[in-house]
Amino acid sequence: MTNALLDLPVSVAAPGLADFACKPEQSRGRRHAEPQAPTRNAFQRDRDRIVHSTAFRRLVYKTQVFLNHEGDLFRTRLTHSLEVAQLGRSLARALGLHEDLVEAIALAHDLGHTPFGHAGQDALNECMAPHGGFEHNLQSLRVVDGLEHRYPQFDGLNLCFETREGILKHCSLRNAQLLELQEPDGVGARFLHKGQPSLEAQLCNLADEMAYNAHDIDDGVRSGLITLEQLQDVPLFDNYRRQVQAEFSQLSGRRLLYESIRRMLSDQVYDVLRTTQSALQTHAPTSADQVRQLPPLVQFSAEMKASSTSLKSFLLHQLYRHPQVLHTTEWAKQVVSELFQAYLADPQTMPDNHASRDDLPRAVADYIAGMTDRFATREHARLTGVPTPV
Ligand code: MG
Repeated sequence: MTNALLDLPVSVAAPGLADFACKPEQSRGRRHAEPQAPTRNAFQRDRDRIVHSTAFRRLVYKTQVFLNHEGDLFRTRLTHSLEVAQLGRSLARALGLHEDLVEAIALAHDLGHTPFGHAGQDALNECMAPHGGFEHNLQSLRVVDGLEHRYPQFDGLNLCFETREGILKHCSLRNAQLLELQEPDGVGARFLHKGQPSLEAQLCNLADEMAYNAHDIDDGVRSGLITLEQLQDVPLFDNYRRQVQAEFSQLSGRRLLYESIRRMLSDQVYDVLRTTQSALQTHAPTSADQVRQLPPLVQFSAEMKASSTSLKSFLLHQLYRHPQVLHTTEWAKQVVSELFQAYLADPQTMPDNHASRDDLPRAVADYIAGMTDRFATREHARLTGVPTPV
């Protein structure tokens, strides 16, 4: 049976692992050798370690777009990561990719985010400009490779290569070269040789974009900063809104919004599945390693990519650069850069494990990056005596 609308086979049964999926038993391994777990595969174990990490718990109090105290129902980094994992698993199951690996990457992909979202990251990057800069993707890797201190035998979570490869979504050439020096032919190599990561990693990238586009519409409308009327300028969303209103003429408000977003997300999922299945047929990779030498295969169709880009541009101009968002953004940047100066001037105001490090600016950046919004706010008030203005 096929669904005429989508021209896809209708099946809820997982197709099983495809040849081109990553296999835990063929993993390129962990940086420190460990015996296998008796009942869990290596990717499941990575996912479990991520869920138990301190950095993961902190995501609940880290900003996605809206600061945590602005409302209880806005997405945080934690709920965003869960939504990426949900979309990722759905796509992975349908494509025969490894769901546990996708879930591990999705749950870890934002672990390196600073407090206060992109404003915090920009401020920290400016502070760190003379000391090698700050990249949140690289910071996510630093968290799982070293900054978590839980295990007796090693720093970090000692995750598999495939999970670490997926976490390092972007990397500057300079940092890729540094990674390559520490770990030859490791997770930095593909940025130097222009290779691709696994399909599981490619899929998480796209699931991330799909998740934030959808939930930022929801949060944007909830906040009152954007309206359904403004969204008429976004064909990708407005087509579904009109479709829903044609079917349910009485529907308005939140249910109309939810149903329009639901249809948009669902069509994006099927678009990715169709486009990716066709790319897989064309290139016919027979192993996960072969995928790394091919062009990116997990993709939107050209039409959906253009629609998604115009939605992103709408959100950038109407929401992320809304005067009210920019107002809190400016304040957040000030908090991060003043914290940085304060710790640099007086390292003893940080906990010992950071204060005693030889690489002081990087130690300060690691400490600040790990903070939740509210901890950073409290620290700022404690060190500067300036009360929180918002
Ligand atoms: Mg994300």
